[in-house]
Amino acid sequence: MSLQGKTAIVTGAGRGIGKAVAIKLAQEGANVVVNYSSSSTYAEKTAEEIKSFGGNAVICKGDVRSMEDVEQMVKTAVDHFGPVDILVNNAGITKDTPIVKMSEKDWDDVLDINLKGAFNCTKAVAKMMMKRRSGKIINITSVVGVMGNKGQANYAASKAGMIGLTKSTAKELASRNITCNAIAPGFIQSDMTDQLSDAVREEYLKSIPLKRLGTPEEVAAIIAFLVSDAANYVTGQVLHIDGGLVM
Ligand code: NAP
Repeated sequence: MSLQGKTAIVTGAGRGIGKAVAIKLAQEGANVVVNYSSSSTYAEKTAEEIKSFGGNAVICKGDVRSMEDVEQMVKTAVDHFGPVDILVNNAGITKDTPIVKMSEKDWDDVLDINLKGAFNCTKAVAKMMMKRRSGKIINITSVVGVMGNKGQANYAASKAGMIGLTKSTAKELASRNITCNAIAPGFIQSDMTDQLSDAVREEYLKSIPLKRLGTPEEVAAIIAFLVSDAANYVTGQVLHIDGGLVM
C-alpha cells in the first residue's frame, strides 16, 4: 500500500482526524502538505511528528474558503514536492443550533468551510491531476450528512452536499483516471466530539453497535487504503466508518 514519493495535501491537518491522516499518509511514504487556518502550533507539531520518523512535511496556512489561499497551498505543494497526487478535504467545523435559532452567519460559515472549501480545493488540483491522468480525492463527510441530525441543519446540509460533490467529481474526472470517494465517519474522538456533553455522548453510544467512539487513526487507515493503488477501481463511493451506526 505504498504512497512512496506521492504529493498529498490534507486540509485542517493540525489536529484531530486531519492530523492522523497526514501522519498515516507520511508513514506510507507520501510527502505531505499540512494545512491549517489558525492552529499553527498544532500544524507544526504534526509536521515535527512526521519528520521524527523520516517523513516529509511542510506546513501551510490557508483558509479553504479563499480560492487565493487554496491556490497558494497548491503552489506550496508543487514547489516543495511536485504535482499533487492526493487531496484530502478534511477541514470542517460545526455551529450547532436549532433551525429557528440559526443565524444566517452560522449557516454560511459552516457551508463555506465544509462544502465550498472542498469545492475550492478540488477545483485547484483538478486540472493538474487531469493533465497527468492520475489523482485521488477524498472528501470527509459524516453520517450526519446521510441521516440528518437535530440542531445540525447547517452541518448536515454541508455534509450531504459533499456527497453530491463527491459523486459529481467522480463522474467528471473518471475518464482521466482520477478517483473521488467520501468517508462518512460516525463519532470519532476529537476536539469536535469532546464538545458533546456526557449525556449526549451516552445517548449516542447506545445507538452504536460497536459501543464505542472511533479513533482518528481508524479513519486514517481507511483513507490510506482508498488513496493507494489497491483502491484504483473504487470511485464515487461513500464509506461509513461508524461502528455500525448506519447500516
Ligand atoms: P477538529 O478536531 O475540530 O478539527 C477541524 C480541523 O479543521 C482543524 O484542523 C481546523 O484547523 C480545520 N479548519 C477549520 N476551519 C478551517 C478553514 N477555514 N480552513 C482550513 N482548515 C480549517 O475536527 P475533527 O473531528 O478532526 O473533524 C475533521 C473532519 O471530519 C471534519 O470535516 C468533520 O466534519 C469530519 N467529521 C468528524 C467527526 C467526528 O466525530 N470527529 C465525525 C464525522 C465527520 P484550525 O484549527 O487551524 O482552524
